[in-house]
Amino acid sequence: KSAKWSPKEDGSKRLPIYQHKSKLIQAVRDCSFLVVTGETGSGKTTQLPQYLREAGFCKDGKIGITQPRRVAAITVAQRVAQEMQCTLGKEVGYQVRFDDCTSQDTVVKYMTDGCLLREVLADPALSQYSVIILDEVHERSLNTDILLGLIKKVFTDPAKATKGRSFPLKVVVMSATLETDKLSAFLSNCPVFAIPGRTFPVTCTFGSAVGPKDLESTGYVKEVVKVALDIHTSEMAGDILVFLTGQSEIEHACDMLFEKAECIDYRYDVTDQSVDGLLILPLYGSMPTDQQRQIFQPPPPRIRKCVVATNIAATSLTINGIKYIVDSGFVKQLNHNSRVGMDILEVVPISKSEAQQRAGRAGRTSAGKCFRIYTKEFWEKCMPEYTIPEIQRTSLTAVILTLKCLGIHDVIRFPYLDCPEERFILEALKQLYQFDAIDRRGNVTKLGELMVEFPLHPGLTRALLKAASLGCQDLLLAVAAMLSVENIFIRPGHPDKQKEADKKHRALAAKTGSMNDFATLLSVFQSCKSSDRPSAWCKENWIHWRALKSAFSVETQLRDILHRLQQKKDFPVETFDGNKSELFRRCLCTGYFTNVARRSIGKVFCTMDGHGSMVHIHPSSSLFDQEGELNWVIFHDVLATSRVYIRTVCPIRYEWVKDLLPKLHEVDAYELSSVARE
Ligand code: ADP
Ligand code: MG
Repeated sequence: KSAKWSPKEDGSKRLPIYQHKSKLIQAVRDCSFLVVTGETGSGKTTQLPQYLREAGFCKDGKIGITQPRRVAAITVAQRVAQEMQCTLGKEVGYQVRFDDCTSQDTVVKYMTDGCLLREVLADPALSQYSVIILDEVHERSLNTDILLGLIKKVFTDPAKATKGRSFPLKVVVMSATLETDKLSAFLSNCPVFAIPGRTFPVTCTFGSAVGPKDLESTGYVKEVVKVALDIHTSEMAGDILVFLTGQSEIEHACDMLFEKAECIDYRYDVTDQSVDGLLILPLYGSMPTDQQRQIFQPPPPRIRKCVVATNIAATSLTINGIKYIVDSGFVKQLNHNSRVGMDILEVVPISKSEAQQRAGRAGRTSAGKCFRIYTKEFWEKCMPEYTIPEIQRTSLTAVILTLKCLGIHDVIRFPYLDCPEERFILEALKQLYQFDAIDRRGNVTKLGELMVEFPLHPGLTRALLKAASLGCQDLLLAVAAMLSVENIFIRPGHPDKQKEADKKHRALAAKTGSMNDFATLLSVFQSCKSSDRPSAWCKENWIHWRALKSAFSVETQLRDILHRLQQKKDFPVETFDGNKSELFRRCLCTGYFTNVARRSIGKVFCTMDGHGSMVHIHPSSSLFDQEGELNWVIFHDVLATSRVYIRTVCPIRYEWVKDLLPKLHEVDAYELSSVARE
């Protein structure tokens, strides 16, 4: 027997889904809609598309599989390409925002739900596809929910379903957990195919570190590290999976583990199955993909693997061999905060169903243990039963514009799986009106049609289009690109290095001659781009070279979209009669006048959107500690920890927004909604 690794010995035949292969293929043949459920790790995401391809479903069109998370789309496509022994981007490919790895030959295409939504705009009949698989539907991401509604609206109606298509579309909806009756009812009572799982019992214990009083504390990072080390020294062999909320926390926890794990006496014989060392691996969304590959490799003999991950490891990616879970009880979530009137990225307690999902990761291969660091009281008092779907807790502005551009005028009576609150829809309409994307009757304007082409926040798009109409798009293209990639600035965990990095970053900001975080982003972009040795430049300045490389690529793609639109003869052209040095900030104001704050007292700013919320400048801003010199500012986003912080800030003059601010109150949302209700 050949020693060479063969993809058909990759264990895929041992997955629970394998026994149901022919029945599953038949079920897809038999009906237009199918709901498939099965435990995380049963093989739904990686196997079903391969089965359908083998069964000939790619003859007429592609198989498209959506994922709510970007990393999942990429990682899974890599895995499937490996199993099929083909080059990624050939038969199997992926497409995520700003990164298209597909070709003419691609028949199995993994993509984010956002990408498929953009494709619907260009081709509502999805004529290139023979099968659409909406995956991870239980995550209830905003874009997946909208896709579900669109598919229901178009493809459950026999009159519309064949329009623009030469053969019928097959739709498979996959979900890890229950709610299958609801999904089936939503899609014309379609059949449900349940893949019976093999799971082992998981014993859960509560801790004493986090109680109802610790909602705002970040002490849980230290605690999970302590618990993970306890497991390492006192439990039998088996890998550990730690759940935290985001990148910086995860890096910090890994640093701590690394430092402390070195002090452990590995020779201490725990049981006869003792382990000698701990392999510490971070896992989060914006992580370099080559680094992710290690996560799935079995650890070397006598070494225990410890993966420190965000919620992505709850269902999107399955890591084999996990026996112990350490659950912090928190997750980072984008929530619409009606007190502040904005979407805020915040750390909140997970739901009970989420906690069960996390615990379940320990019972895949044998009985496992889940260590919850929070108290039973925290569970009872602070954790909701279920996670609220994203559609009911984030801004709908971009999605409502997409629906309007698809000709769906009545956005209130759109078939939502769970309806968002009406006031959220009204707020989105109002914001679209403020950005000139729709008119008073709720119809999409010419500008709105241009705006929908950009995969950016509508405000940022508005500023970019303003700049383009004034002929200074270069400024905003770079800024938009820099705001679309993560973590430009390196924050080393070590205090001495942190000081060094801070010094460099402050120097970069000072170089622009103005205290303005947008200008700093622009300057970093331009300086690096014009450098002879850009990677060395980044290293010297504590900038992530990888992130900047993505920013360069994003800028090119945005430039291409803009260039295509500028070919249209009615592309707006304006002249600027103000002071040239103000041009950049004036353009920003066009898109950010909804995010204006004025300093009220000391370091406290007050937002001008009618909510009058109290906010502070985030320590990462070059304006932090300079508050005394400021009066009016605009900002890119909001982060809530113990305080509400504004990030990426730019000082402005009141005159620049004076004429725009009344727009915030000019139209009563009901005026727009009465049209929506018509
Ligand atoms: P499901 O979608 O039902 O949750 P998947 O198809 O994602 O299941 O995973 C099936 C199996 O494939 C799991 O055991 C998982 O660990 C394995 N797997 C998935 N991706 C990779 C990868 N990149 N490397 C190694 N194994 C993987
Ligand atoms: Mg899956």
